[in-house]
Amino acid sequence: MIVPTRVAGLEALDEFLPLAGSAYARDRNHDLGVSRRTVSGLSPYLRHRLVTEREVVGAVLERHTLGAAEKFVQEVFWRTYWKGWLEQNPEVWRRYRRDVDRAVDAGVPAGYDEAVAGRTGIDAMDAWVRELVDTGYLHNHARMWFASIWIFTLGLPWHLGADFFLRHLLDGDAASNTLSWRWVAGLQTAGKTYLATASNISRFTDGRFSPEGLATTARALDEEPLPPRTPVEAAD
Ligand SMILES: Cc1cc2nc3c(=O)[nH]c(=O)nc-3n(C[C@H](O)[C@H](O)[C@H](O)COP(=O)(O)OP(=O)(O)OC[C@H]3O[C@@H](n4cnc5c(N)ncnc54)[C@H](O)[C@@H]3O)c2cc1C
Repeated sequence: MIVPTRVAGLEALDEFLPLAGSAYARDRNHDLGVSRRTVSGLSPYLRHRLVTEREVVGAVLERHTLGAAEKFVQEVFWRTYWKGWLEQNPEVWRRYRRDVDRAVDAGVPAGYDEAVAGRTGIDAMDAWVRELVDTGYLHNHARMWFASIWIFTLGLPWHLGADFFLRHLLDGDAASNTLSWRWVAGLQTAGKTYLATASNISRFTDGRFSPEGLATTARALDEEPLPPRTPVEAAD
């Protein structure tokens, strides 16, 4: 359980420090379920500013060389990169919110209610829905598989999946969430999608799941061209 205090965040950081080097680089893609020993679990603390990226990276580099901790440091910077990208492209957020509101007004598509209730019949998806709703967390790899199955196997709109995540994740973040969903859908890196496969899921869940009937192709979604980037004003 996440205790939402700075003290708990600093304790979680301290506990993770020994694993931030080669162990993280080796094991981070493995989703071991709620035991979660392969990753830091720091995202809710970072998201709510109970600990900062500077503190996390500083403590890690006191313990490990940059070479050993490079993978972890890179992941922390993904968050920073996404924040800056969305700040310069606010139209992406406006369109996302507009599309969620429209779907709510018009009525959600067939299959949505079953998906968010954990009743798709795809065991992995249904288990991840329960884990997300019960704990407010999913491993990064599970988030990628989930988004891919949502979009390409279930054929549901990406923005409704992103909205479901944002309402349940304790680390729910406008930039990391929206842009990661867009990346899976082939919108963020135009034309490049992420296709979840049973073999990859089985390998990285240590055989806990091996879902059948997943999409075998993932055609990128497309969108109206985005307006030019908005320069961000420097803070005083
Ligand atoms: C579809 C999808 C939705 C996501 N939604 C969110 C979200 O709402 N909020 C959020 O913070 N992250 C999101 N992520 C990124 C990532 O899954 C989480 O940051 C990570 O799982 C958090 O667990 P952790 O703290 O144990 O990560 P660790 O692996 O221990 O990483 C340390 C820190 O680096 C940052 N980080 C790690 N991986 C990423 C990444 N791929 N993108 C951005 N930052 C990263 C996080 O702040 C994290 O706490 C999403 C990824 C996907 C594929």
